[in-house]
Amino acid sequence: FQTLETNSNTLAHVALIPSAGMGHLTPFLRLAASLVQHQYCQVSLITPHPTLSLAESELISRFCSAFPQVNHIQFHLLPFDAATANATDPFWLQFESIRRSAHLLSPLLSSVSPPLSAVICDMSLIYSVLPVTKSLSLPTYILFTTSARMLAFFSCFPIVHGFPTASENYASFDGNVLEIPGIPPLPRSSISPMLLAPNSLPAKILMEDNSILTKLNGVLINTFQGLEGETLEALNNGKVIKELPHVFPVGPFTPREFERRDQSGAALKWLDDQPADSVVYVGFGSRTALTRNQIREIGDGLLKSGCRFLWVVKDKPVDRTDEEGLDEVLGHELLDNMKEKGLVVKTWVDQVEVLSHKAVGGFVSHCGWNSVTEASYCGVRVLAWPQHGDQKINAEVVEMSGLGMWMKNWGWPGEDVVKGKEIGEAIKELMSNESLKTSAAAIKEAARKAGTGVGGGQEASFKRLINEWNKNT
Ligand code: UDP
Ligand code: UDP
Repeated sequence: FQTLETNSNTLAHVALIPSAGMGHLTPFLRLAASLVQHQYCQVSLITPHPTLSLAESELISRFCSAFPQVNHIQFHLLPFDAATANATDPFWLQFESIRRSAHLLSPLLSSVSPPLSAVICDMSLIYSVLPVTKSLSLPTYILFTTSARMLAFFSCFPIVHGFPTASENYASFDGNVLEIPGIPPLPRSSISPMLLAPNSLPAKILMEDNSILTKLNGVLINTFQGLEGETLEALNNGKVIKELPHVFPVGPFTPREFERRDQSGAALKWLDDQPADSVVYVGFGSRTALTRNQIREIGDGLLKSGCRFLWVVKDKPVDRTDEEGLDEVLGHELLDNMKEKGLVVKTWVDQVEVLSHKAVGGFVSHCGWNSVTEASYCGVRVLAWPQHGDQKINAEVVEMSGLGMWMKNWGWPGEDVVKGKEIGEAIKELMSNESLKTSAAAIKEAARKAGTGVGGGQEASFKRLINEWNKNT
């Protein structure tokens, strides 16, 4: 990757505004790191304060120590009454709290020095931040932190509820299947129940954001040609909605040194003693807690698979409140039985370090988009087990791209508990399937080419963006 030849005095100045949760913060910080490391522009990072999880506040601290040249500004949230929002998930409530404080960004954005050339905000902030940035005449982009397939869905989302989209759309929904030109059809069963419920907070946020989507200057997205080429083509060739702003593939983001925490030392040491490609890693991201019943069935499934495993158990969505010990969550007997073939932890692990380890061959994942792109970056085959939101749509990408397999009959949480026997069989299949191994390795090649190769998709996107930002500097 070559640094652009630019005089630092004339560098554009871009503000990055992430929303809540590690799944949103991490890609913003990886983007910020790329922008400053290649001296593409100066960066101000504006983070909502306080953060919901401890993981977020710790990551921000480590980022600021590693990148002192980034101007960090805390954006203090107003008091928020959760009873006034139609949601229970703490992260969605935090999204709403941030949206309702967004008008406070105006003095922050107008007072930074040198003056800003552009703003990149989270996708859940379109409706609340765009009026602020437009009144300051600031070009506004979003970083879409999930898949291009989800972006295509989001662009057409109102028609699922019988409403018009931001501009003319070319999709149709017959109640069962969403047909979007240029990409494989999207069945109703892949749409999360919370997005199908018209009055839910998530549906309201997507609907409001969609209404002014075409007013954005562009959409940055953490994906790449080798994973979602067909969808990117459909989005950028006007096949989905008319006047969709340009979509810039800037993925897969490179994981960075500042993300490392010490706690995974034990897990990595344990992996060092395992044979190559023998371990299945099981982790459901930073904010998904399964029911105790489902957790225990996973334990049983891992034992039945006969494979070695590294399993991260999460019992509560927000880390600050996740206090029970493993013996309480799993029960003594199961926990004892697990020790022979695997390692079970209830702490944060450095997932990218784990996925990069030669002992790890498979990944049972909820298909949060960062997990999917990290698996692609490391060439680890995925058993998709989506739980919420965008995750079935991401699981479709996993399956269609050859990165992994998906047991479609495993429903959303709240439907049937998936039994250990089925889980064990699926894991056995994941670990022994040679063709998946080959196709996941091919995706890794494409990921590295997009991310680091000269002329890769990422570099082309950044060059075009910087030209746009420089015009406003
Ligand atoms: N992650 C991690 N260690 C953990 C749990 C999560 O490093 O123990 C990271 C993971 O690598 C990813 C992010 O947290 O970068 C989770 O984002 P994702 O989009 O996969 O899922 P979400 O947490 O938003 O559901
Ligand atoms: N989302 C979106 N546009 C928005 C806000 C959210 O498409 O303006 C989608 C996103 O793709 C995902 C969900 O809404 O489906 C929010 O994602 P989040 O990472 O919060 O995780 P989830 O609720 O899926 O666990």
